[in-house]
Amino acid sequence: MKIVRYEDTNGAKLGAVKGEGVVELTRRFPSLSDNTIELITQWASLKPNVERLIMESAPDAALAEVHVLAPVARPGKVMAIGLNYADHIKESGQEPPRHQVWFTKAVTSINGPYDPIELPIASTYVDYEAELVVIIGQRCKHVHKDRAAEVIFGYCAGNDVSVRDWQLRTPQWVLGKSFDTHAPIGPWIVTADELGNPHTMGIRCFVNGERRQHSNTENLVFNVYDQIAHLSQAMTLEPGDLIFTGTPGGVGGAMQPPQWLKAGDKVRVEIDRIGAIEAAMRPERAS
Ligand code: ZN
Repeated sequence: MKIVRYEDTNGAKLGAVKGEGVVELTRRFPSLSDNTIELITQWASLKPNVERLIMESAPDAALAEVHVLAPVARPGKVMAIGLNYADHIKESGQEPPRHQVWFTKAVTSINGPYDPIELPIASTYVDYEAELVVIIGQRCKHVHKDRAAEVIFGYCAGNDVSVRDWQLRTPQWVLGKSFDTHAPIGPWIVTADELGNPHTMGIRCFVNGERRQHSNTENLVFNVYDQIAHLSQAMTLEPGDLIFTGTPGGVGGAMQPPQWLKAGDKVRVEIDRIGAIEAAMRPERAS
């Protein structure tokens, strides 16, 4: 199943994708409003009803006619792993890390899948990172890797947009990873049961149609389950938390000469069995 958050003239809603259309959930389950975390929390009881609804109902709207929003508006936290594909480690001039390298992206960096991404006033060194994003399905701690699949609600595509000068001029990457609009996600959540094995998917990034990144999630150094096992030793993971799982080689900053994103550039991230997000770069407006 694909869960989508979107808005029409009546405001933001949750829905389920059916073909090229969306079956509205909010109208049938008003207590959910457009809160994906609430849907995830209630999923065990909701799921059979939603499945039946999708089978029995015609779409309420065409996806092309609504504004598709970030599938989780305000996650409790956004964790992201660095240096997690061998070719990206190499192009970054780093040694393979002995320990998983984690940072956070501020929750205010969340952006819709097709909404413009800001080129910040503070930098011109803006880069893309195509990533598989995991959405956590239940509150958990100390999850064994053999059971990590059980705590995953689903997956979406993400772009870990990175401001390289801010990221790399200090030991902590968090500021360079946390600019507003720099965590576009979507276009929807594919539930874990529908997606199956998350380690067999092609992942690509295009800038203005030119393919810059091209890999497969089978190449993750620390796979999705390793990541959940490791993170959950330190922190409680909660429904709706996001995990950016790392980017393959081909980032703009590692090209010769470096190719930073410019106003008007169109950046597309696509992942097999999930779909694509695509957005234009736009200068931040002074406020
Ligand atoms: Zn990244």
